[in-house]
Amino acid sequence: MLAATYTQGKGFAITDVPKPEIHADELLVRVHATAICGTDVKIVRNGSRRAKDGQRLVLGHEFVGTIEAVGSGVTGYKTGMRIGVAPNFGCGRCEACKLNMANMCADYSAFGIDMDGSHTGFVRVPAAVIAQGNIAVLPENVAWDQAALAEPLSCVLNGQNSVDLKAGESVAVYGAGPMGLLHVALGAARGANPIVVADTNAERLGKAKEVGATVTVDSSRESVPERVKEATGGRGLDIVFTAVSVAQIVPEALQLLAPFGRICLFAGLLKGKSEVTLDANLIHYRNLVVTGTTGGCNADYRAAMDLIVSGRVDVRLVISHVMPMSKMGDAYELALAGKGLKIVMRGE
Ligand SMILES: [Zn+2]
Ligand SMILES: [Zn+2]
Repeated sequence: MLAATYTQGKGFAITDVPKPEIHADELLVRVHATAICGTDVKIVRNGSRRAKDGQRLVLGHEFVGTIEAVGSGVTGYKTGMRIGVAPNFGCGRCEACKLNMANMCADYSAFGIDMDGSHTGFVRVPAAVIAQGNIAVLPENVAWDQAALAEPLSCVLNGQNSVDLKAGESVAVYGAGPMGLLHVALGAARGANPIVVADTNAERLGKAKEVGATVTVDSSRESVPERVKEATGGRGLDIVFTAVSVAQIVPEALQLLAPFGRICLFAGLLKGKSEVTLDANLIHYRNLVVTGTTGGCNADYRAAMDLIVSGRVDVRLVISHVMPMSKMGDAYELALAGKGLKIVMRGE
């Protein structure tokens, strides 16, 4: 079966790999839809932080499909069931794992990061993934392409929960890439208003409007603080999310907040480029909360899947391409060139 692979220390290749075999305590999943994530692109460029030297990894961690085979020791699952699989699973012993937050486990594993992932026809699901509750069972009428976005939406949901976004609160999102747009869509669904989005790409700002932004700012030629002042009658914002990996925006983003404001540093920054200078008095005198999130836990994944399946968050506008798995070379070419938004590959 065709697979998008990365061999640690050697590089990216689209190649044939054998269909995985499963043990008695495992599941085999036929992939129906799998999206390309910024993380996949990062691995192709810089390698995986968690893979061993020389290890060949099938990329991909955002996927949904049907159960193709059930190990003889597995109960509760049947062939043909439609499922989504949250990609991270933990050591099972640490504090984070006890809280069922594998995304915060120091010793986590994940599909497409340190074990074979979903940019191929079939995925082996190890016993720990089943035991930790990573599997969400999907309804009959699931729209595969959209359900594949439950994982990125789960990260966004985790970010918004971390600052307790409530209806009527004013929000700004830096960055109108796929993650920024999901922040806008989820923020709008939660009743945020106004929603200000800053980016330098006019096309992406147009998308942000379609997804639910009330004010868009081209930060290459407009001042974000000025536009925020206008949009909030001088008061400032309740919440800011950073969804772009640019360190300089963090000090500016902090200035946008009103008293009791919260900021979620949602985008990770490049290693060696993550130090910024913040005005501590802003945090002190305005009673601000500065936080950050990475990934999402299984509960976030299931909640995100519910939001998609129920139509409360419409992720269709965030999907720019749906391509068959046989065109995976073209799909990666687009992703590596930074073209489009979410690219979803369809299995058989
Ligand atoms: Zn992802
Ligand atoms: Zn752990």
